[in-house]
Amino acid sequence: MPRRFYIRTYGCQMNVHDSDKLANLLLHAGWAQAESDGPCELLIINTCSIREKAENKLYSDLGALREWKDEVPGRALGVGGCVAQQEGDAILRRFGHLDFVFGTHNLRWVPEMAEAAFDGMREARTGTTASLERFDLPERHPEFRASTPGRAFLTVMEGCDMFCSFCIVPTTRGREISRPAQGILDEAAALAKTGVRQLTLLGQTVNAYGRHDQRRAQTAETGTMGFAALVRRLAEIPGIERIRYTSPHPLFFDEALVRAHAEVPELCPHVHLPLQSGSNRILEAMRRRYTAEEYSRWAEALKAARPGLVLTTDVIVGFPGETEADFEATLALVEALAFVDAYTFKYSPRPGTPAAQLTEGSVPADVAQDRLERLQDLLRRLTLAAHRARVGETTEILVEGPSRRARERPDQPAQIRGRDPQHRVVNAEHSAPGGSLVQVEIVEATPHSLIGRPVPEEGATLTRGKRTADEEGRLSAPS
Ligand code: SF4
Repeated sequence: MPRRFYIRTYGCQMNVHDSDKLANLLLHAGWAQAESDGPCELLIINTCSIREKAENKLYSDLGALREWKDEVPGRALGVGGCVAQQEGDAILRRFGHLDFVFGTHNLRWVPEMAEAAFDGMREARTGTTASLERFDLPERHPEFRASTPGRAFLTVMEGCDMFCSFCIVPTTRGREISRPAQGILDEAAALAKTGVRQLTLLGQTVNAYGRHDQRRAQTAETGTMGFAALVRRLAEIPGIERIRYTSPHPLFFDEALVRAHAEVPELCPHVHLPLQSGSNRILEAMRRRYTAEEYSRWAEALKAARPGLVLTTDVIVGFPGETEADFEATLALVEALAFVDAYTFKYSPRPGTPAAQLTEGSVPADVAQDRLERLQDLLRRLTLAAHRARVGETTEILVEGPSRRARERPDQPAQIRGRDPQHRVVNAEHSAPGGSLVQVEIVEATPHSLIGRPVPEEGATLTRGKRTADEEGRLSAPS
């Protein structure tokens, strides 16, 4: 019987996708995937260092896992992700029961490090590389279980050259590098053949894809293209019905991408566009490299390009130096742009970032908390208003699986949970399997989700008339 692994993942979609890549690598190396950390021989923790809480969670997890390790002889424990990249072998020294540590550029070595751990070797590999080799990963193993049926993440670029003053990502993920387009198109076509209908293109500044190559006029060598051109090529792949991308940086929007939103039906009418602050003074202190006015222009252009397009965002409150007037500018902009949802954070200094050196103007904790609550109140109001405006509309949801009610109350009629093109959660009484596309009429709005009624009748699972990957054959190479 093959040895089993389990991966605990913290943090952003990038980490979730890295865990998928790890699982796939381990399956190819002959491991089996366990349902939990109970019955497994290898446990990997994929960490996040964006927020202090996530880092503390790792250390408390590792302390508790001493017992897990001792329970069954011959178990191995590994740590990867952003905290691993930052701390390297300091974590190995601190936790004697930890077997290996791997950085964000070292995923491909994990099967080898896991094997070595069973021979009693302990090591940390956190070297960074500018090589494109890191994108050469095997296709989905037949036993790979997608956590989200019908959907897949697709890495198009990695790293970040922006160095926002509050962010540790350029240190933990390294410099910006774009993946050759051919590899992206091949992976997308292979995913479509396995039934994937929705691609989420991933990158720390995803819409900066290919920009360095274009600037250096090396496109022939590296095989990249502009981000909008890449989106158009992906949309041609048979079977791909929806394309999303995260996270774009406002600085890298251009007319071509706005036009793609108007002209490419597969490109979803939802953009998660991080704002961080509505005050130009704070944006400058954050080194965001755009003004509130520039941000607004792109936001309005996107909404004008695609009727019904929904904007969501990230906002940080309590950044050092943020005054009440700065915060009110943020509230005003959030209201003016009518964001439908947002990840909201209270600023916390991350060691190793320029903002952590700011000694003046720190915002008292109670003031930051009050601002966070006022911002969240506003967002709740905006979300509910946006949801109510959609009652009566017909939309199409990509089914994720049974809804929470269906899981908790099996005595009730079957109910599914899915996402509409605007990325809103829609629950509907239906029994379609995960990965299906179902037409629904929105009949009710709640603060967090929408309630839909299937149309035209119970049991109808409608798929748009795009040819499937099998019907179409393989995509041609980019020119
Ligand atoms: S753009 Fe700024 S916030 Fe985003 S990953 Fe890069 S440095 Fe961090």
